[in-house]
Formats: sequence, C-alpha cells, structure tokens
Amino acid sequence: MDGAGEGRVVVVGGGIAGLLAARVLADRHLEVRVLDRDHPERGDPSTPRRGVPQGHHIHALLPRGRQILEELFPGLTRQLVDAGAPSGDLLGDARLHLSGHRFARAGADLTTVSVSRPYLETCIRDRVAALANVTIGPPTDVLGLVTTPDGKRVRGVRVLRRADGSAEEVLDATLVIDAMGRGSRTPTWLRELGAAEPPQERIAGDLGYATRHYRLDPTVLGGDWGTLQAPTPHCPRGGALARIEGDRWIVTLFGLLGDHPSTDPVGFEDFAASLTFPDLGEAIRSGTPLDDPVAYRFPASVRCRYERLRRFPDGLLPIGDAVCSLNPIYGQGMTVAALQALALREHVRRDGASEPRRWLHRVARILDAPWDMVVGGDLAHPEVEGPRTAKVRVLGAYIARLHAAAARDPRLAVAFARVMALVDPPTSLLRPGTAARVLHGGGPTARRVVGTRPTGHLDPRKEVRR
Ligand SMILES: Cc1cc2nc3c(=O)[nH]c(=O)nc-3n(C[C@H](O)[C@H](O)[C@H](O)COP(=O)(O)OP(=O)(O)OC[C@H]3O[C@@H](n4cnc5c(N)ncnc54)[C@H](O)[C@@H]3O)c2cc1C
Repeated sequence: MDGAGEGRVVVVGGGIAGLLAARVLADRHLEVRVLDRDHPERGDPSTPRRGVPQGHHIHALLPRGRQILEELFPGLTRQLVDAGAPSGDLLGDARLHLSGHRFARAGADLTTVSVSRPYLETCIRDRVAALANVTIGPPTDVLGLVTTPDGKRVRGVRVLRRADGSAEEVLDATLVIDAMGRGSRTPTWLRELGAAEPPQERIAGDLGYATRHYRLDPTVLGGDWGTLQAPTPHCPRGGALARIEGDRWIVTLFGLLGDHPSTDPVGFEDFAASLTFPDLGEAIRSGTPLDDPVAYRFPASVRCRYERLRRFPDGLLPIGDAVCSLNPIYGQGMTVAALQALALREHVRRDGASEPRRWLHRVARILDAPWDMVVGGDLAHPEVEGPRTAKVRVLGAYIARLHAAAARDPRLAVAFARVMALVDPPTSLLRPGTAARVLHGGGPTARRVVGTRPTGHLDPRKEVRR
C-alpha cells in the first residue's frame, strides 16, 4: 500500500462515464485519479482510441445529456459549435423516422449538438484534466481490487502501468468507481471475493453497425443537421446521418437480427439505398467518402442487476456501461452516464461516498426508463427473444400507434421526442390528453410505410399521409 489513499478516489476507466464521475467527485474529494489502460491518440482529437471501439460510430448526444454536460462544463456547447459541430433542435432541425413513420416537424425545445464521440470525449477530458485535484493516466491496467480481509470493504486497486519494466503495484483509495464499460471486470472480481455475480438481463438483437465519413453538400438534407431511421418489425435495417465537426458527415448503418451492413464500400452504399426512407441513401450518393466503412457488432443489450445482490462491498460504485449497456440505436448511453453523474454528486452529498446499496438502487431507477425503451423496441421484432410481458405488449402496441399518429400530429411528435431525449418521463405519454390524441390521431386511418427486406425502398413522400 502506498499509505496515501485517505480521501483518494480511483476511477477505473476514462470513457464518458469515468470522466463525468471524476468531474463531480472532484468537488468533494482531495484527490481523484482516473486510470485507463488506453491513452488518447496524440494529434487529431477526432480519432477514436483503441479502448473505445464504438467511438468510430455515430454518437447522438441526447438533449438531456447536453444540458447536463453544459451544467458540469459551462460553455461546452459553445466550444463544440465553434469547432464546427452543428447545434439544433432534435425535431425541428433534424428528421426522425420511427416505426416506419416520419415524425411531423416541430420545434421541441430540445437543443442538442452533433459531434463525434472522440472529439466530445477529448473536450470533456481536457476540462476534467484541468481540475486541480484530478490526475488522468498514465496508461494503466487495473488488475483487481484490494479489500479488507473479510472482503467487505474495497481499499484500493492492483495496477500495472503500460510501460516497459513495470511491476504490479497497489494504489490505496477510499472509493473506487467502476467505469470500465461493457467489459467491466466487477462481476469476476466479486466472484474472486467469494461473493455472487450480479443477475444479468440480456436482450439479444444481434445488431451490426457500419460507419463511414463523407464530405457532403451542407444543404444535402435541406438544411437539417441529421436524419435517423430506426428498424421496424417489417424491416430490420436502419441508419443515421449527421453533420459533425470538421466539415464532415458521419453515416452509420445498422441492422438487427444478423442483417448487418457491409463494410465493402459498394455494399455499404447499397445497404443505405435499401432503407425504407430514401433521404440518407440519396444524400450520400453524390458525396465524397473520406474513409472506408468500419464495423461494430453489438450482440445484446445487457443490464447487470447489482441492486438485487445481497452482498456488495463498501467503497465500490459501478457506473455507466459497466452496469448497463443499451442497444445504441436509441442513442442513450452517454446521457444515461450523465444522469448517473448527477446522481453520484447527490449520493456523495447525502449518503457518503462509499455506501453502495443506495447507489445501486439510484442507478437502477435511472436505468428503468431507457431499459424499458430498448426492451420494448427490440421485442417489437418477433424474432428477438425476451420476456414479452403484458406490459411490454400493451405499451408496444400503444407506442406503435403513437408513432403513426406523430407523423401528422406535431404535439405527439414533440411528446415522444421529449421522452426519447430523456427529458420527460415515459409516463408523460400516458397523460389523458396525449392518450386521447394517440387513440384518435393514429389507429386505422394512419397509413404506414411498411419497409420490406431489402429489395428496394418505398418512397415515404408518397406513402405517408400528413
Ligand atoms: C456502436 C455503439 C454506438 C453508440 N452510440 C451511442 C449514441 O449514439 N449515443 C450515446 O449516448 N451513446 C452511444 N453509445 C453508448 C456509449 O458509447 C456509452 O454508453 C457511453 O460512452 C458510456 O460508456 P462508459 O464510459 O461507461 O464506457 P466506455 O466508453 O466503454 O469506457 C470504458 C473505459 O474503461 C477502460 N477500461 C476498461 N477496463 C479497464 C481496466 N481493467 N483497466 C483500465 N482501464 C479499463 C477502457 O479502456 C475505456 O476507456 C454507443 C455504443 C456503441 C457500442
């Protein structure tokens, strides 16, 4: 032990969740150390780093996430916009296609900023690194926990620096944050301590992503900064296109149930052209590709139910993807990490840093809404296995009807976008006024663009009644 751990927090993982945890903990702790096995690439701040392979792909920052980042790092939105990232309304300045319907355009008071994941992380990391009591790096593997002999309290971590001639060391800490992401080692470390691993919930959508950057005419979407179309039960394919910093557009294509986009340039553009709505495919047809497509496979959304464990050591708090890794089509992960960072600030203030039980329940409450959204969306596909409870089936039918009605009812479009943006709770969609609009505005008269498996696309401008 180095004997200097009193008041020290070790954050394992320097992704978005780890950096945001460090930011809020720096207000109350003497020393915060962020340890990551990776180190950011020098030079181009938009280059994804090895430890975060998802950084190649589109990363929508939901409006609630942007609000929180702005609160934690005042002026961040301006900084991103000054670097060329477009800022605009989620619904008024971008296109949303859900359940085969293009949502009515409306100002939703949902401002966001469209930026690449590596650049956003770079800006956040620079701000966190500038805090007087925070140290980030050097590249270090965290190998395990150090606990009291009874295993009830975490007292530090075993580490190995990524440098020639390094030897394993112990770093004392009063609090360890697990921000290791989807590959978190905490379940294994708990088992090594003789404790139970967390029960896991998995929804396996067998999702594949492929992403490529383009130079496009700025007016290619009629001035909009982006477009998203989600898969439907009739068409497992979707895609998103967004302008980002550096005068570039990022195109991410995705497919569920093994219907994955190709990384071959021709196959990639064919996949884009096969989408139900033509705007994305048409936009890139005349563009200049800047790189080759890069793939990512996401077999399943996974939620670790730590809050259900009877034993969990004091002094260890998991956060971010380490607890729950959500189907990325819904773009929620960074915003969920930001919501958890605010909760961590509150937790440390009210319950003391090292108390895990209330923390794990707080995290579970934050996760319930986004998890339900992902489960409901994925289970709408009959081939995806999972518990189709009565709640899932009834809400699924209601949401499908709402999406249909939102194609011509701007108030419903705004109501859903605010829930999707994690600004309003899902229960807001069940308010009597909203429910009445869903029941009368959707239903049998709403015609849907029914995507087919990729033999071509229908033109939604002809199919969707407005
Ligand atoms: C394909 C894809 C697309 C996505 N799109 C979106 C989107 O549009 N919008 C959105 O909000 N979210 C999106 N997400 C989710 C988002 O990336 C994460 O939810 C979010 O960044 C929070 O991640 P995290 O910080 O918890 O983990 P990560 O970003 O995975 O970071 C974990 C860090 O821990 C480090 N690490 C792990 N183990 C160790 C160890 N033992 N020792 C030292 N370091 C270690 C890794 O090097 C890494 O830097 C997407 C995810 C994927 C997979």
